[in-house]
Amino acid sequence: MVGSDELPVLMEAAKDRGSERAVALPLDDPGAAADLIVALDDRRGVDAVVAVDDRGVLAAATAGERLGFPHNPPDAVAATRDKAAMRRALAAAEVPQPAFVVSEDGLPDPADFPFPWVLKPVDRSGSQGVIRADDLDAAHAAAARVRALCDGPLLVEQYVPGIEVAVEGLLRDGELTVLAVFDKPDALEGPYFEETIYVTPSRLPDETLGRVGVVAARACAALGLAEGPVHAELRIDEVGDGDHVHVIEVAARSIGGLCARTLRFGAGIALEELVLRHALGMPLDDVARETGASGVMMLPIPAAGTLREVRGRDAARAVPGVTGLEITIPPGRAVVPLPEGDRYLGFVFARGDTPAAVETALRTAHATLEIDLA
Ligand code: ADP
Repeated sequence: MVGSDELPVLMEAAKDRGSERAVALPLDDPGAAADLIVALDDRRGVDAVVAVDDRGVLAAATAGERLGFPHNPPDAVAATRDKAAMRRALAAAEVPQPAFVVSEDGLPDPADFPFPWVLKPVDRSGSQGVIRADDLDAAHAAAARVRALCDGPLLVEQYVPGIEVAVEGLLRDGELTVLAVFDKPDALEGPYFEETIYVTPSRLPDETLGRVGVVAARACAALGLAEGPVHAELRIDEVGDGDHVHVIEVAARSIGGLCARTLRFGAGIALEELVLRHALGMPLDDVARETGASGVMMLPIPAAGTLREVRGRDAARAVPGVTGLEITIPPGRAVVPLPEGDRYLGFVFARGDTPAAVETALRTAHATLEIDLA
């Protein structure tokens, strides 16, 4: 059963025929969405509620609480949807993270809060509105752009240099199991932070990965997250002895978009299946990721315009190691790059014996694509 803001047209028809496969839920009103899920439970029984993206996490947590399923406390989930609340909760538990100031208006005094900064809205995702500023002029310009995107307060953080990884994990009764760590081999130094390549397994040393797992678990505990999938972004300044791991963000959901396709566990189980098995209280058996490397490249939107065509797709699909290419924006659609934009052009997937081979396949495939914008 699928819950979404609007019932798909075909599902409406199915409902009229008495086979209910979807339910319309006001995801921005978690209490009302949970009421509808509880009513659904009375009508036909519900065994678990799983959110598929950020927008649904609070509704799923609220319904899970009411129906007595393993769930995250709604307050904890709410903190993952508000970057200022997340920073405060992590600070209270002394989890390493960038220094930050929450600004209703105005900007911090650089004498107390040295550059470089990263400015961001508190309630967006996918790097939308996230802008680095190295001086006061750039900071004012960035603040104006962020405020044009959203009404809420502005988060100003100190820029953490170094490399970034993404952790995919599963919480069970408050214990975090790290399912995969992805390297992000493209430098993410700003001024905008578009995600491109994710490759797993990570090429970082085991000790560093151990620290990444410990810090990610501390962040989940600080936020009060206890059950289900987590996706966290962490930065490591200077790999090696004494490396420092900083939490950039924790989300109470699995990896976004189509990227979950890169992960398979045990004897070929998909991430979604693992998440559903956990939600249903079923045994998880083998949560070890398959051997071999895999990765995805999120295709950035190079400029604003109208997408005419993406050429070179067959050549990209034919690159050794490439397992898939999906262009997710139809031709004729207006596209907006970051920081104002909120989507990618599509995804390239690759598999290989080593992370380096996967990275090469993704870069080669991307280089064959010609994005025609009007
Ligand atoms: P979103 O939830 O929109 O993805 P994030 O806060 O995770 O927003 O920021 C997006 C990206 O911007 C991060 O993955 C990281 O690369 C970069 N970034 C954000 N904050 C910082 C920071 N304080 N220091 C360095 N890089 C940052």
